[in-house]
Amino acid sequence: AIEWVDSCASTNSSLMEHPPADDGKVHVLVAERQSAGRGRRGRQWQSWAEGSLTFSLLWRFAPGAPVPAGLSLVAGLAVARTIEQLGVLGVQLKWPNDVLVNGEKLAGILVELLPARDRSLSAVIGIGINLQLPPDAHIEHHAGVTDLMRALEHAPPSRPALLARLLAELQALLDTYALAGFPALRGAWEQRNAFAELPVRISGERDASDGICLGVDEDGALLLRTSDGVTRILAGDVSLRPL
Ligand code: ATP
Repeated sequence: AIEWVDSCASTNSSLMEHPPADDGKVHVLVAERQSAGRGRRGRQWQSWAEGSLTFSLLWRFAPGAPVPAGLSLVAGLAVARTIEQLGVLGVQLKWPNDVLVNGEKLAGILVELLPARDRSLSAVIGIGINLQLPPDAHIEHHAGVTDLMRALEHAPPSRPALLARLLAELQALLDTYALAGFPALRGAWEQRNAFAELPVRISGERDASDGICLGVDEDGALLLRTSDGVTRILAGDVSLRPL
């Protein structure tokens, strides 16, 4: 079921706060405008009506399924594959949740988990894609941003057409993920890893570690080679920057 609204604070917040009843369907909420679009750790996601596509999808896991690991990487992979199919070259993934084209950020992903009273688990997967940034777009705290118009060198598909392609790709990858977990998709993610074998800094709230990005493990955790050996980093509250 797809609901397309004129505006809301954040599509992720709406689905988290008012999850639709479980009718066996996948629920998708698309907003023309978000007044308080969110990224991770209280960051803002900016969007511009026709210039962006912002939506969230509620995905329910089978009862008793393990806590999903690597889900934001799976969502990023779905976005990457969709835009590759449109003909975009140079699509890369930045752990844990960004989609880059030629090193610039084209889309962001925010995955939040929603536990239910009966102990089943759902995930709200929020995706924001830049279709055409306004010329005066000012995006805070970010080096490079891009949009589909620039990446394709021609007008992007209409938003409903792009949404349909994205949902088909997400459904296919989430089905694989539900059956076989992240290991089934790890190779596809690593092929697009923007920082494979490159020096990076991982910063948390209090500390930072520098090392070489080796890839991801079977849970989607980042593997970092530091002077102390190989460290495994969970997505939680850390950010990656190239060194
Ligand atoms: P980063 O992408 O800087 O490594 P992050 O992964 O923690 O950080 P997210 O939570 O994914 O960031 O996204 C929020 C950040 O994305 C914002 O702080 C801002 O810098 C940037 N941003 C906000 N809106 C857009 C947009 N439309 N296009 C590209 N980047 C954006």
